[in-house]
Amino acid sequence: MTSSRFEGDFTLQEPLPPEAIAAAVEVMRSGRLHRYNTAPGEMSEAARLEREFADWQGARYCLATGSGGQALQIALRAAGVGPAEPVLTNAFTLAPVPGAIHAVGAVPVLVEITDALVIDLDDLAAKAARSGARVLLLSLMRGHLPDMDRLMDLAGRLGLRVIEDCAHTMGATWAGRKSGSFGLAGCFSTQTYKHLNSGEGGLLVTDDAELAARAVILSGSYMMYDRHGAAPPPEAFAAARTEMPNTSARMDNLRAAVLRPQLRRLDANIARWNARHARVVAELRRVNAITLPMTPPAAQPVGSSVQFRLPGIGPEAARRFLERTAARGVTLAWFGVPAPEGFTSTHRNWGHVPAQALPRTDAILATLFDMRLPLSFSEEDCTLIGRIIAEEAAAVAGSGAPA
Ligand SMILES: *Cc1c(COP(=O)(O)O)cnc(C)c1O
Repeated sequence: MTSSRFEGDFTLQEPLPPEAIAAAVEVMRSGRLHRYNTAPGEMSEAARLEREFADWQGARYCLATGSGGQALQIALRAAGVGPAEPVLTNAFTLAPVPGAIHAVGAVPVLVEITDALVIDLDDLAAKAARSGARVLLLSLMRGHLPDMDRLMDLAGRLGLRVIEDCAHTMGATWAGRKSGSFGLAGCFSTQTYKHLNSGEGGLLVTDDAELAARAVILSGSYMMYDRHGAAPPPEAFAAARTEMPNTSARMDNLRAAVLRPQLRRLDANIARWNARHARVVAELRRVNAITLPMTPPAAQPVGSSVQFRLPGIGPEAARRFLERTAARGVTLAWFGVPAPEGFTSTHRNWGHVPAQALPRTDAILATLFDMRLPLSFSEEDCTLIGRIIAEEAAAVAGSGAPA
């Protein structure tokens, strides 16, 4: 049976929970939307979110920012990255990652990925040596985790400090330890398509008091750092308060208010994402034409999106596959597109990044397909989506039909 069509909307998120809506209304009633506009003794919504996220993440310090990209920029600057400095990052990521490196005046040095869609540690070692970089901005793109023990060990030997881009790994773990807790700092996004939704927003976590203090000042604290929820003690700010620029990247109370109730549901939602992901993957596994990236046993990702490859597929067949799945209501992204479409740009489209040869990454991206799984989809929806992809992949590949 190949006539079924999926009718859902891949960009439709769930509505915010009623408590989030009520909290937002409360903030709007108060008029106190700016995070430092507090009544005497009051702890703002932004400060409360920082405290609660730090506790949930198991981090000592947390700073709420205006976006995930701002969290990345602040982390880089707070780690001492300056103009013209090389910063390593994996070549498979989204545009805000090289964008954050560019925004602090630094230069991305792109590292190849493996077919597990994670950073290639051999290429990392080679490029760290060649570039003299001191910082790795590790993008845990689409939730795929490299061997974090090996990576941190290698980074230690190479003298690299690691900043984790956890836009897709909020709640993911490696050997039971939360993503974002391995490096010097972890950066999260609360943009609509991530694991918490405030439209725009970001969270930076660290256990390093000096870095946290610099980050708070960079975010634009107007010296009101005593009104934070998970900031270091005042003495940690002695140098940072006059050395760091104010780059105006604060989160406001309205967004923090809608995030706090969502944080309380996050663990339950992670289980819901993983159940949906498992439904899709179970269907994709039935078809030989489809290759799924390997997930190491120690990794416990959050299945909020699905990636798969059709090895050997050429550009024309890839286009046909996209058309056929789209005709049945399944909107896929293809990382092999020559020009950027939506979020699927690649390093060849980032004109601000010095051109770099990444043959292995290019070969992987040429056959890589991607889709997000919003929680507005039911598990049955996900089985149907998986079935449609499997049938069309088999048809385009001309190989065996799904079992
Ligand atoms: C979304 C995203 C970011 C940046 O988050 P914004 O909140 O949109 O600035 C960074 N890295 C990756 C991989 C992302 O997907």
